[in-house]
Amino acid sequence: MLPEELSLLAASMGEPPFRGKQLFSWIQARGVVDPSAMTNLSKAFRERVASVDLAWPARIGQALRAADGTRKLEIVLRDGCAVETVLIPERDKLTQCLSTQVGCAVHCAFCRSGHNGLARNLTAGEIVAQVHLARAAYLPEETLRNVVLMGVGEPLHNLENVLRAVAVLEHADGANLSSRRVTLSTVGIPRGIDRLGEATHGRVALAISLHAADDDTRAFLVPGAKAGVAEIVEALRRYPLPSRRRFTIEYVMVKGVNDSDGAARRLAKLLAPLKVKVNLLPLNPHDLTDLMAPDDDRVAAFQQILIDKGLSVFLRKRRGADIGAACGQLLAVRPSS
Ligand code: SAH
Repeated sequence: MLPEELSLLAASMGEPPFRGKQLFSWIQARGVVDPSAMTNLSKAFRERVASVDLAWPARIGQALRAADGTRKLEIVLRDGCAVETVLIPERDKLTQCLSTQVGCAVHCAFCRSGHNGLARNLTAGEIVAQVHLARAAYLPEETLRNVVLMGVGEPLHNLENVLRAVAVLEHADGANLSSRRVTLSTVGIPRGIDRLGEATHGRVALAISLHAADDDTRAFLVPGAKAGVAEIVEALRRYPLPSRRRFTIEYVMVKGVNDSDGAARRLAKLLAPLKVKVNLLPLNPHDLTDLMAPDDDRVAAFQQILIDKGLSVFLRKRRGADIGAACGQLLAVRPSS
């Protein structure tokens, strides 16, 4: 809940509205959900609050640590479903990768997360809880700097809950994350992109998992995406991108599928009218795909073509692959599976 909603709750208990703001700070700034620890509230109010279920709607299951310091936490939900969240350190600054759905309906050819389809959306509380529960896995000097909605799920298929979660995480009286430090990654759903732009005034950073500049190749790699690449480009042109900001275009490189010189030239042409940086992700292997990453020299040649066409291109560092925490390796579990 947002502070104004907690104020209504406080009011319904006969308390002044500012109690709502105090509750919000305890929960969202300090991560405290036990009313008996909320020492600036009256004893009577604490007792009344104890009748409300404030506990996080999830708990941490298995926790793994990779050789490079990346941590993967299993987030077990109350109905027995589970997703994963990842903490990626860069010195003392953490980037946290959040999941937004249990499974995914898009079925990307190279991705493990959607292999069993979609079980359900995460609630806003389940998305926010990932941030607070993961604090237990921080090192003492670490602080959270960036949040990326790049875990299990397609965020634009669960946009209203994602927007609520972002509003809670950004609130100055709570975790106070800057929206410029929140990135939403999507396969590119034009209506969802429009709604996101409208709701956040373009402040949430947008990453598009494009993977191909032509619709045939894209239909093979991202079968659940309905929009053509031209429609996605149109949606990006409408997006209220703040000045000095750019879109990120994610491109998983798959050997023999989308890694040719011609594919690079088509990509450069498609992206020419947009303010973008390109993130190349050589495919991370896992047990549920036979697709492979191109050789390093193929990746380098592809990258060079894009650079020669004037694009900024970055190779995404593979993090946490030894614990299955890299892009495309995360898993969703349903109670029966
Ligand atoms: N569903 C959203 C959020 C997931 S973000 C989206 O598709 O954008 C995770 C990123 O990892 C996406 O760009 C996705 O395409 C990429 N990815 C999936 N499987 C991968 C793999 N095996 N290797 C590298 N990247 C992968």
